[in-house]
Amino acid sequence: MKKHNFFAGPSILPENTIKNTAEAVLNFAGTGLSVLEVSHRGKEFVAVMDEALALFKELLDIPSTHEVVFVGGGASLQFCMAPYNFLNKKAAYLSTGAWANKAIKEAKLFGEVVEVASSKDKNYSYIPKGWDVPSDVEYLHITTNNTIFGTEIKKDLDVKVPLIGDMSSDIFSRPVDVSKYNLIYGGAQKNLAPAGLAFAIVRKDALGNVDRPIPTYLNYQTHIENGSMFNTPPVLPVFSALETLRWIKEVGGVAKLQKINEDKAILLYNAIDNNKMFKATVDNLEDRSIMNVCFVMNDNYTELEKEFLDFAVSKGMTGIKGHRSVGGFRASIYNALPKSSVQALVDAMNEFEAKH
Ligand SMILES: *Cc1c(COP(=O)(O)O)cnc(C)c1O
Repeated sequence: MKKHNFFAGPSILPENTIKNTAEAVLNFAGTGLSVLEVSHRGKEFVAVMDEALALFKELLDIPSTHEVVFVGGGASLQFCMAPYNFLNKKAAYLSTGAWANKAIKEAKLFGEVVEVASSKDKNYSYIPKGWDVPSDVEYLHITTNNTIFGTEIKKDLDVKVPLIGDMSSDIFSRPVDVSKYNLIYGGAQKNLAPAGLAFAIVRKDALGNVDRPIPTYLNYQTHIENGSMFNTPPVLPVFSALETLRWIKEVGGVAKLQKINEDKAILLYNAIDNNKMFKATVDNLEDRSIMNVCFVMNDNYTELEKEFLDFAVSKGMTGIKGHRSVGGFRASIYNALPKSSVQALVDAMNEFEAKH
């Protein structure tokens, strides 16, 4: 039976990314050697890195003021690199969930952190509105998509200070106005590549404005100057990232993907809203993530949670168990997840409702 992969991360990647990565592990670019056992300075891998960086910039329409770098350490290292490089005295953070709070914790090691708003009072089930950013902060940090709680900031905010965005789980799901950001970063394992890689889109002229010395590897400048080859990059994730970027281009780019993603999300949220047995954990339509859809059993049906989970598994669904801090279910419907998988989940929910 076909598996429908709703895992939150690591998560579904385009079929060609998986196939071509498997092929490159056996025979990379006709070298007769594995991509795992050749120099990252050889011409074959340098071509991979160059094309990956170029396509990354092309697909997100990244202006020449910014540079893209690939580094190890995942998004969690970016929680620290972001303030290391951009927080001199004071920064603002929006607290929208567990990942945002981890970013806040790291930032406090480097300077004053103003939490402009938090949705903690309702277990992060909404995006706070109507808050102000102090004018004397160096940036405002936002988590554009809250992977665990299923909320998303779907537009690039208009504020008077530069933005820094954790886009781990919604990068390439929509066009982004990169010019508003000093930094956009994320782990690769949600929408791009296998784990082990982080991307950072850095505004070059915003670097060099902090008083502290920055360790070489943690300085974005190092990675910019060395074309993401300061040290041995995570070669396999970079290879896979290139394959995913090629796929995004083939599909028609991020604007096209946004439409497809919205279409999938509407299909699923409508099914939840119209099914008496389930309810979405995020009420406000505007705040609902088009990447991670969180839902629970409706009030009279809570005892059927386990039964539905088993039922869904029997229908080929995998990875829909909700995060422990929300409970219920979470369907991650990333770029690479076909609409047919969303339809299969909707069918299973409808069938379950009819059964009861
Ligand atoms: C998964 C995730 C992270 C953590 O990524 P790692 O690469 O595991 O460090 C951070 N932020 C968001 C929004 C995520 O979804």
